[in-house]
Amino acid sequence: MKKLTLGLVGLVVALVVAVAGNTARLTRGAAIPAVAPVVVAVDSAGAIARLASAVRFPTVSYEEGTRVPDSAAFRALHEHLRVGFPLVHERLTRETIAGLSLLYTWRGADTSLAPVVLMGHFDVVPVVPGTESHWTQPPFGGVVADDHIWGRGTLDDKVSVMAALEGAEGALRAGFQPKRTIYFAFGHDEEVGGSGARALKAALIARGIKPPALVLDEGGAILPGEVVGARGTVALVGVSEKGFLSLQLSVRAVGGHSSTPPPHTAIGRLAAAITRLEASPFPLVLEGPTLEMMMRLRGTLPLAQRVALSNLWLFEPLVIKGMAAKPAGAAVLRTTIAVTLVSGGVKANVLPIEASATVNLRIRPGESMASVTAYVERTIADTGVTVRAVGFRTEPSPVSDAKGLGFAVIERSLREVYSAPGLVVTPYMGTGGTDARIWSNISTQTFRFLAVPMPADALSRAHGSNERLSVGGYLTAVRFYDRLLRNTDAL
Ligand SMILES: [Zn+2]
Repeated sequence: MKKLTLGLVGLVVALVVAVAGNTARLTRGAAIPAVAPVVVAVDSAGAIARLASAVRFPTVSYEEGTRVPDSAAFRALHEHLRVGFPLVHERLTRETIAGLSLLYTWRGADTSLAPVVLMGHFDVVPVVPGTESHWTQPPFGGVVADDHIWGRGTLDDKVSVMAALEGAEGALRAGFQPKRTIYFAFGHDEEVGGSGARALKAALIARGIKPPALVLDEGGAILPGEVVGARGTVALVGVSEKGFLSLQLSVRAVGGHSSTPPPHTAIGRLAAAITRLEASPFPLVLEGPTLEMMMRLRGTLPLAQRVALSNLWLFEPLVIKGMAAKPAGAAVLRTTIAVTLVSGGVKANVLPIEASATVNLRIRPGESMASVTAYVERTIADTGVTVRAVGFRTEPSPVSDAKGLGFAVIERSLREVYSAPGLVVTPYMGTGGTDARIWSNISTQTFRFLAVPMPADALSRAHGSNERLSVGGYLTAVRFYDRLLRNTDAL
């Protein structure tokens, strides 16, 4: 008995030592790289005025078929760029692609090197009718007030287009000539499918370009740590995005009078299928970009979480449970299921001959449209329920390599112009979609990031009311692009 007790105590001591040792060793390993700050001179007043003016062109993408875009507004914005960035338009070539998208080519000194592609889009979503009065400043007024530039596109995504061109104009003024060719690929319809981005890519591929050394598009941002449950500030750099698939479940039945019904109508059978599906969500998996993000954030977390993350061999189920407690946490751990549409029946006293529901799935990397469809069919387990894919769909994007040079150059460029106590720059998996996905199977250095520090509520403003960007945040983005352009020489 005494031997057994001693043995148990020994085991517990060994466990505690191992857990504490891992915590100390692994947390120490996550040191923040030291980067010397660089002063970047910016024409602040000019840059702010140019972005504010860009907002005034109503370059709206309307939901397919509802209204044609105002092409004159797009052309007027093109002209605004020409006037606003004279050196860019003198030294770079500019082409119009797919009618309204723009491709700028800044020829590198060594054209044998893999190029860099900087993306952005200058279309914006409409203002939801009836919400105009919710805006403090008019959505297309381009007003600068309260230390902010207000209006549609200030966050999504005229900011990227304008900041990239400001960076280029400033670097040209300072006499910079890149070693590798840099393309600026600005789409005109990202909000409604991104045909412009695909045409821009097709044009570059047709020219036989090498797989880019870096592709950068919108996506992540600099945010308060609490958005991912951490302390301090985090710069979230998207390395992949989930797939998208809508499945329509339908049940057909004979119909007839509701006074003599079968045990289950078409609607009842469909409801039972939906219930089974919601009762069996996809498994929660901590791997890939989400695992990498948690590891990089580890040092900023409270002790209990730090210990748990440093000892996943023991605490992984607990970590997953904690993260999945919130929908946003669960969304980065699993393929999600959302029943979003339902229809069936025509009259209260008539048995429905058909009932259908649409289930929207966001597929995590590691699964595919085929594997999740098979899972849904298996879970429903009813051959009377037909499952078919409808509408837009896409596989999860390949995961970019956050240990490569592209990520390092993004992190370095950011740290040169921006610092915050304990700032962690980390890869993450986007749960929404961007145009960057079209490049991710060609370049493992495809990232989604906007170097703007923003409050957590910016995420709801981007497609909602009162979209606005802080003046200081915008100037950070401009300085970031200046450094990024120069740092591409190090790729
Ligand atoms: Zn966007």
